Amino acid sequence: MGVLTTEPLGGALAGRVLDYRAPEGGCGDGDFVEVPLGPRRVLGVVWGPGEGGFDPARIRPVTRVLDARPMRAELRSFLTRAADYTLTPLPAMLRLATRAPGLGDPPSTRRVYRLAGPVPNQLTEARHRVIEALRDFGGAPVNLGELAEAAGCGASVVKGLVKLGVVAEEDAPRDTPYPRLKADRGMRLAGDQVAAGDALVADVARGAFAATLLKGVTGSGKTEVYLEAVAECLRQGRQALVLLPEIALTAEFLTRVEARFGARPAEWHSGVTMTERRRLWRMVSEGGAELVVGARSALFLPFQDLGLIVVDEEHDTSYKQEDGVLYNARDMAVLRAAIAGCPVVLASATPSLETWANVEAGKYRRLDLGSRFGAAELPEMRAIDMRAEKLPGDRWISGTLARKVEAVIQRGEQALLFLNRRGYAPVTLCRACGHQVGCDQCDARMVEHRFQKRLVCHQCGATKPVPVACPACGVEGRMAAVGPGVERLAEEVAARFPQARVAVLSSDLFGSARALKEAIAGIAGGGADIIIGTQIVAKGHNFPLLTLVGVIDADLGLQGSDLRAAERTFQLMRQVAGRAGRTAERKGEAWLQTHQPDHPVIRAILGGDEEAFWRAEAAERRASGVPPYGRMAGIILSSPDLAQVFDFGAELARRADPLRRIGAEVWGPAPAPIARVRGRHRVRLLVKADKGAPLQAGLAEWLAQVRLPRELRLAVDIDPQSF
Ligand code: ADP
Ligand code: ZN
Repeated sequence: MGVLTTEPLGGALAGRVLDYRAPEGGCGDGDFVEVPLGPRRVLGVVWGPGEGGFDPARIRPVTRVLDARPMRAELRSFLTRAADYTLTPLPAMLRLATRAPGLGDPPSTRRVYRLAGPVPNQLTEARHRVIEALRDFGGAPVNLGELAEAAGCGASVVKGLVKLGVVAEEDAPRDTPYPRLKADRGMRLAGDQVAAGDALVADVARGAFAATLLKGVTGSGKTEVYLEAVAECLRQGRQALVLLPEIALTAEFLTRVEARFGARPAEWHSGVTMTERRRLWRMVSEGGAELVVGARSALFLPFQDLGLIVVDEEHDTSYKQEDGVLYNARDMAVLRAAIAGCPVVLASATPSLETWANVEAGKYRRLDLGSRFGAAELPEMRAIDMRAEKLPGDRWISGTLARKVEAVIQRGEQALLFLNRRGYAPVTLCRACGHQVGCDQCDARMVEHRFQKRLVCHQCGATKPVPVACPACGVEGRMAAVGPGVERLAEEVAARFPQARVAVLSSDLFGSARALKEAIAGIAGGGADIIIGTQIVAKGHNFPLLTLVGVIDADLGLQGSDLRAAERTFQLMRQVAGRAGRTAERKGEAWLQTHQPDHPVIRAILGGDEEAFWRAEAAERRASGVPPYGRMAGIILSSPDLAQVFDFGAELARRADPLRRIGAEVWGPAPAPIARVRGRHRVRLLVKADKGAPLQAGLAEWLAQVRLPRELRLAVDIDPQSF
């Protein structure tokens, strides 16, 4: 019989289903099994009858059948189709669906740890870190390996705390179902919400695939509408999945769901403990979890009976997984819904052009929520022409914006200054020779972080001290920080508004998701007058007192040659502006500092004729035949040897007959958008084909001839983010 293993065999067998002999007692399709692979034992799933044709004496037997419910046909075909679409070997795809820790362990062997007694004041540094880690897990029991790793210490430190009685060691709890949710306590929908809610509820009741764009500005009541569809799904006794970007930060959302349904839903993301993940995985599979709120990887959970998928903020770029298996969770959500035969809702204030085009083509239905709920308007958006402001080179807040901020603070409200740049200054250069300090391993400039007192590479995380002497010319004392980051902006704010309470929200300034959540809650409660933030503030946090948004550099995203720059900037600026004035009592305003107030994108953002912007953007993409009006794939080759990787890329481009046969073009090799990471040079080939061309088949045939030299790695990126 055939078993798909989570580890690929090398060479010609990579990604194929392998033949094994059934164990005594037999096993069926979808069973989780342990099988020998070379010298190791690996996890696998029974995947049909196998190829046969081998000498039966040489076929090895399945070691054992694991104690987990079989993987359903629906999930197996999703994995197969997703692998075909992304040109990912099936074993790698299967790994995404088997991330349940301890799939095969009997529960009794598992011990877990949690905070027990009072914490003494005198603790060693390592013991203190263990306590902190346990607090970060929010009281949930954790297993030893995970705890030691989170605390960066050895197991003995944990055991020491157990002896002291500060930490309790106990058997892992039996996997119990999640509390039942009550589906009957929603708000009364109003205005546009009624028709939208009815349409989605009807879809769920029908129980067939249907894709819907739910569009409306922030605060228009989209969440309330799709929660109605979730409620219907629960009434049908089926399971619902809500995907959110940056889920570790969405305490607010979970609280809201809890208020709506009377209990907390199951959560799935990287901040959830292994013990909890194991429970969730099992309960999802057995129907003991009705609603999962998760990050993109929740798409690979073994739902027993999936009745609805919601992708909130569907345009968000963090849905694209850029490491390992390259997939876009929004697109995969649509695929999974199609296979499961359930509706999928894509919600956004600023949909991606892909989704917009699918609506235009009649594939997705569009539901609009017009005005904001409670009739507050989108904030008024205006430009500040920075050419007229004549600021000195080390200041970034214009006089115009400063006066607005002053007025807002006077009224006891909050102002947000948005700058999408972490750290103190993006460039560190030598005033004597002009040298810019770069990362030794990557093609990236080192960014000064004053709180850490070091230069940091935002690509690979490497750090080094801020040099006193120039690494290139050796001159001392001429190194200068150039350009603004949020930390530097905070300095300027402190100098200009000495009385104001200032909060900086940047992902790197918080040790843990918990710390960041607490900071956000503090700000929402009025704990700051001025908020300085990177894009993490753009993502749906509700600050009720916030009435002014100042964008420090609206031109930032428009530089560079990326064809998606306009779309991205448009979405980000609207999203940020939407933070201001969400409530009926307070009307917000947003000011964009720009050096090019006449730039078409800036004008579109300010002018507010959104449909016109999308039509223009669509026309441009259609004319050049790029996504969503054409198909693209990136082939990323990497190697420590630049010449080797370029030559290999060029050779590959020359042998592209299978692609030419489907009418596709091959561009490159050219340096990849990130041209060097961790010492590996990266080049990219771009393949462009017509919308209807069989791109995957062409690519598969083309790449089948590739024999990779040892040092070289190849990754396929279907629908790349930048082109
Ligand atoms: P969006 O998801 O579009 O940002 P929300 O669903 O979060 O919008 O709604 C914005 C605010 O309006 C929330 O505070 C929500 O509780 C409130 N709201 C939405 N719909 C209703 C309703 N029908 N009745 C009362 N309040 C509502
Ligand atoms: Zn680096």
